[in-house]
Amino acid sequence: MDTLDAFARRKLASLEAAGLRRRLAPTGRLDATHVLRGGRRLLSFSCNDYLGLARDPRVLEAARAALDAHGAGACASRLITGDHPLLGELERRLAAFKGAEAACVFGSGYLANAGIIATLTGPNDLVLLDELVHSSLLSGAKLSGARTLSFRHNDAGHLEDLLRAHRGSAARCLVATDGVFSMDGDLAPVGDLLAASQAHDAWLMVDDAHGLGVVNGGRGAAHGHDVPLRMGTLSKALGSYGGYVCASAPVVDYLKTRARTFVYSTGLPPASVAAALAALDIVERDPARVAEPLRKARLFTGLMGLPEAQSCIAPVIVGDARRALAISQRLEAAGYLVGAIRPPTVPPGTSRLRVTFSAAHGDEEVAGLAAAMADALEAQSA
Ligand SMILES: *Cc1c(COP(=O)(O)O)cnc(C)c1O
Repeated sequence: MDTLDAFARRKLASLEAAGLRRRLAPTGRLDATHVLRGGRRLLSFSCNDYLGLARDPRVLEAARAALDAHGAGACASRLITGDHPLLGELERRLAAFKGAEAACVFGSGYLANAGIIATLTGPNDLVLLDELVHSSLLSGAKLSGARTLSFRHNDAGHLEDLLRAHRGSAARCLVATDGVFSMDGDLAPVGDLLAASQAHDAWLMVDDAHGLGVVNGGRGAAHGHDVPLRMGTLSKALGSYGGYVCASAPVVDYLKTRARTFVYSTGLPPASVAAALAALDIVERDPARVAEPLRKARLFTGLMGLPEAQSCIAPVIVGDARRALAISQRLEAAGYLVGAIRPPTVPPGTSRLRVTFSAAHGDEEVAGLAAAMADALEAQSA
């Protein structure tokens, strides 16, 4: 048998050989769009701070005030003594913004997804997931012990087929999708998925981590549909940290009573909650800013001759993992930070450059990236 170290070394060597080894790159943030990496200042098209709020003076001021008033941490799980008053205020504001009865704030989006699915379904139940959903939804399905099947990406007809074939043998059924797909930037057909779910007595959950603050006036991809579970994160367009779900009052109360990732994890730090509240204010009051990331993404897809962006995420799919890495390195040499996304984050053979746009990018910066991307693609053509 391998020693632990030998096991880890052998695994790393085979990942390295496949171009799949991952390495951290310490990265400082200089302003809303520039980062410092390896001593170089780079223009980033890799951050999820879509509205440039992570360093907005109003957001920072709110975080500082909360730090002074409430301290650095929540000091306990929310059900013990960690439920500082900012958390309830944020839940009321999120529910109102989403037009929901109630909301529950979790420690992160990952914890929300893991907790929600595992609390609402169990071994006698069925979970149906779009094949490209975020990994945290898969973790929730695994934790639940429910039978889990995938439907073809954005294919409500295939979901309907699976419901017809398998719904009858399960006690409860939950269907989950990303609202905006994190690696593809396309939108889920929420209305069709909801109709199929309702026709078969299944509960629809939409993960709008990349929809909040960006699509449908910032209200997300599920806006305008009566989706019973609307989950999202405070860590992308809101520039802070934490996760949430908007749902009916009984569902929220049940999650707060039983979701293990809520009950057994410390409440969010007050400064993070205050930052999210200040950012939500800006999203509600500044629709012109909210419209900018999508406009920038469309400027890029237009210049590149790609299908028109539906969100602020625009993938440039190149296939091979090593080619994606080489293009990313070439862009970095030209002063641009664009992440190469490889399996298992995306299916094998679909490695890509994932380009994300922020309200803080200038149009001329977007044009500069498009030119550099075209050069890098040509230099690395097979
Ligand atoms: C980032 C992300 C999450 C996880 O949210 P965190 O708050 O970062 O843990 C969940 N779902 C999707 C689709 C995401 O992109």
